[in-house]
Amino acid sequence: MKIICIGRNYAKHAKELNNPVPAEPVFFMKPETSLILNGKPFFHPDFSKNIHFETELVLRINRLGKNIEERFAHRYYNEIGIGIDFTARDIQDACKKKGLPWEKAKAFDGSAPLGEFIPKSTFKSVDDINFSLNINGVEKQRGNTQDLLFCFDKIIAHVSKYLTLKIGDLIYTGTPEGVGPVKVNDKLEAFIEGERMLTFQVK
Ligand code: ZN
Repeated sequence: MKIICIGRNYAKHAKELNNPVPAEPVFFMKPETSLILNGKPFFHPDFSKNIHFETELVLRINRLGKNIEERFAHRYYNEIGIGIDFTARDIQDACKKKGLPWEKAKAFDGSAPLGEFIPKSTFKSVDDINFSLNINGVEKQRGNTQDLLFCFDKIIAHVSKYLTLKIGDLIYTGTPEGVGPVKVNDKLEAFIEGERMLTFQVK
């Protein structure tokens, strides 16, 4: 099982980090050891002073595929969930400056908390899904898939040019604007269409 994450997929988020809006999807990966399931806590690592939350809708792949055409891509995922792409922003900034890979900043243990999934068929349109994040009861991020630079089908088509997608693979589809730091004792709650799908604490 692999976790693929899309970077800079909402224009306002790319802008808030002074990144250019990409011409094609930017992607990177996290290992299985980055997952946090069942509401277990996230332990703030001591190697970073600036761990940022990024709230993202997550696709679960349900079919083996390679070189998937965009028009068939919708057949390759059947569930949508929500997760956090935790990012050690201080380390990522240092890596970016040196032109180094991002793994240290993105792929560390516990960097991918993941909530429950909803069958895709329950959404009227995957191009109009609202999602949000509360920290300690205060809304910090709100997004809608209308604002995606690359829609789910484009992401699947692009990624599968390079990587075979397998059943159970996860795709974190990018974060809207409003990212920021977490601290010990914060309680994070993520929602899809107002329904709470993920709750956990920072320890
Ligand atoms: Zn992200």
